[in-house]
Amino acid sequence: MEESKDETVYCRECGTETDRDAKFCSECGARMKVEVSDLWYLVSVFLAIVGGLIAWLANKDKDPEKARNFLIVGTLITVIPIAIALIAFFSLSTSTGTEGVRTTVENISRTIPTG
Ligand SMILES: [Zn+2]
Repeated sequence: MEESKDETVYCRECGTETDRDAKFCSECGARMKVEVSDLWYLVSVFLAIVGGLIAWLANKDKDPEKARNFLIVGTLITVIPIAIALIAFFSLSTSTGTEGVRTTVENISRTIPTG
């Protein structure tokens, strides 16, 4: 299978047939949309916010919308586990916290000699 290199794309602004590799339209000078690989999503997922930032910086000139998505994915991948961990931590600490206080109070009252 051979990838056709002479595949043409059309300018979004004026519709002129333009070379696939061209960065700008030869007719009106509009920036041509460059395809950004979806593999960048993997970078965002695996490297979390760092990958998101790398993917965003690498692609923001080519496809600002997609680049923003990489950044959002990277941020969510970072924030969601932290949020879950915090919620889990606080729900655990509050439940064991009150339990701990109660047993401590019981222990103290038991150690206090009565009579
Ligand atoms: Zn054009």
